[in-house]
Order: sequence, then structure tokens, then C-alpha cells
Amino acid sequence: MFRSIMIENDGQDYRAGLRDVEEAALPEGDVTVRVRYSTLNYKDALAITGNGPVVRRFPMIPGVDLAGVVEQSDDARHRPGDMVVLNGWGVGETHWGGLAQKARVKGDWLVPLPAAITPWRAMAIGTAGYTAMLCVMALQEHGVTPDRGPVIVTGAAGGVGSIALVLLSRLGYTVAGVTGRLQEAGFLRGLGAAELLERAAFAAPGRPLGRERWAGAIDVVGSHVLANVCASMRYGGVVAACGLAGGMDFPATVAPFILRGVTLVGIDSVMCPRERRFEAWRRLAAELPWDKLDGLSSEIALTDTLTVAPDLLHGKVRGRLVVDVDR
Ligand code: NDP
Repeated sequence: MFRSIMIENDGQDYRAGLRDVEEAALPEGDVTVRVRYSTLNYKDALAITGNGPVVRRFPMIPGVDLAGVVEQSDDARHRPGDMVVLNGWGVGETHWGGLAQKARVKGDWLVPLPAAITPWRAMAIGTAGYTAMLCVMALQEHGVTPDRGPVIVTGAAGGVGSIALVLLSRLGYTVAGVTGRLQEAGFLRGLGAAELLERAAFAAPGRPLGRERWAGAIDVVGSHVLANVCASMRYGGVVAACGLAGGMDFPATVAPFILRGVTLVGIDSVMCPRERRFEAWRRLAAELPWDKLDGLSSEIALTDTLTVAPDLLHGKVRGRLVVDVDR
């Protein structure tokens, strides 16, 4: 038997709770992983609360991320005892996920954990940090270098945003953070934000074009915030859009794209090809300052995920949460 968070839905009653599950019930897969740590992402909070259509099969163990040790494997690339990390691929949505002591998954989905990263830190990074790195890679590939001008990060106090601040400032960019929590200014400056902007200034409908300010942007919010960020890009600026914490809509005009040559790059972590994931994790291992990562992360127990999920959706969680699945 192993412990898990299990979501059940009979069409009327959607509920998540702690359950003991028999190992024989694990889904098909070629690798069994003894999970050591998982994490709570925005998407996991949607799944646990039922506030968004994340879970597509029931019963479901949520958790789009896991880090642990290979226990049994029919895949020659992964041997018992190997440390591995998994992000996305529909895990926690259509296939039982990481908020459990065990998982059985496809070998294709696993990334060997770089030696520099402990399982705890792998989950402090999680999908949020790996996505932040995908966003940074996209900006760089589109020619945004530190000398081109400042970069703006929205949802700065959240998971993707806080790690994006750390990565960008480490790489020499001047970074501004947009936040609804200016009371966290000290924390955000400590992560590398040179300037902080009040979320309210971005949240209402704005003009098609504003003052040219940013060479690059990482947006986790969507809706008016993304539209206003696009409108304030410098000529040739690049926006990496990865989230919808403020809404799925995009009430913008084409003006920034056709008059300023702005590029909007979409970032998806879930189905991102293996080679690009490996590259993102290699770069995280080499470039992420561990003291900063540890400082923005805190640990909770498996059962805490049930009570913390609504707080996360209400923007009350700062930085990243690591879940110890054994307590
Ligand atoms: P968090 O909840 O940790 O952070 C989101 C942050 O967005 C909050 O901390 C808050 O920052 C801000 N925010 C929350 N609600 C609103 C709102 N209504 N309007 C404006 N800002 C808001 O989530 P994550 O960082 O884990 O994820 C952020 C987004 O990115 C989510 O939508 C998630 O689904 C998406 N995502 C997408 C991925 C992909 O593959 N494309 C991968 C990972 C995440 P502050 O308090 O500083 O304002």
C-alpha cells in the first residue's frame, strides 16, 4: 500500500482526500518510481479544488511533478536506484501523478536528475521553475540580451515569476516585477527585482500602444495584464506567454505586433520535447543559485496540499512549495 491524494468525482460530488492505495492499482507504465518529493503548482491547486477542468479521468492522483528514485524498470534508460524527475506529460491530469509515495509512468517521460540537484530542490524548481527556464530560453533564442533593455515578469511573487526573477537577474538582465503583493517588495528585491510595479496598473483595459519600456517579458497572468505588457514593449521586443492566472482571454490589438515588430512566444511545458527538457534541466543545474531557490521555497506535508490549494489559487502562496509525500 502507498499513501496518496486521490480525487474522486461521481458527477455530483468532486472531492479530494488522503487515500491508501494498493500498488497493484498503479496504472500501466514501464517504470515504477518511489516518489520522494512532489510539489504544488497552480495546476495542481486547480485539480485539487476542482476549480478548473484539469483532471480528465477519475479517480485521479493529482501532481504534475515528481522527483524520486527508480524502483523497477523495463526501460533500459532508467535503472533501479537512478534519481529521476518528471514534469507534465498529462501526469496528474490523465495519468496518476506525483502527490503519492509511488508512481508508475512511461520511461519517455522521465528526465535523469542532474547530479547537482537534490530531489527536494528538483521539486522546489518543479514545473514552475522548469517553465521559467523555458521562458528564459525563448527570450534568449529570440535575441533578447541584457544590453537590449529591461525585462518585465508578471505574477512575480508566484512560482514561475519568482524563479524567473532569480534566473534573469543571475544572467545579468535588469528585471522588473509586476505584483499584487507590494508588501513582498523586500522578498522580490532579494530575488533580483530592480523595480516593482503594482499589478492594478496592468489589470484594466489599456491603450493599444503605450510607452516603449521592455525588451523582454515573461507573463504568467494572461488577459489584460498580457495585453498591457505587449503594448509597452520596445521596438522588436519579445514576450514569452505561459500562464492564465488572471484569465484565459487575450483582449489585445495587433498594434504592438504590426507597428513595433513585437514577438509573442507561446511556452508549453507539458508536451515539450525531451531534448528541450534535458536542456532546461541542464541549465537549471548550472545557473540557478541554490541559496535563492531555498529562500523562496518551503515544505509542506502531503495532507497540507488539501488546505493550501485554495490559498495558492487566491495568490496567497509566496514562491514555491515542496511536498514531502512521506508526511
Ligand atoms: P502561482 O499561483 O504560484 O503564481 C501565480 C501568480 O500570479 C500569483 O502569485 C500572483 O502573483 C499572480 N496572480 C494570481 N492571480 C492573479 C490575477 N487574478 N491577476 C493577476 N495576477 C494574478 O502559479 P504558478 O507560478 O505555478 O503558475 C502561473 C501560471 O502559469 C498559471 O496560470 C499556470 O497554470 C501557468 N503555467 C503554465 C505552464 C505552461 O506549461 N504553459 C507551466 C507552469 C505554469 P503576485 O501576487 O506577485 O501578483
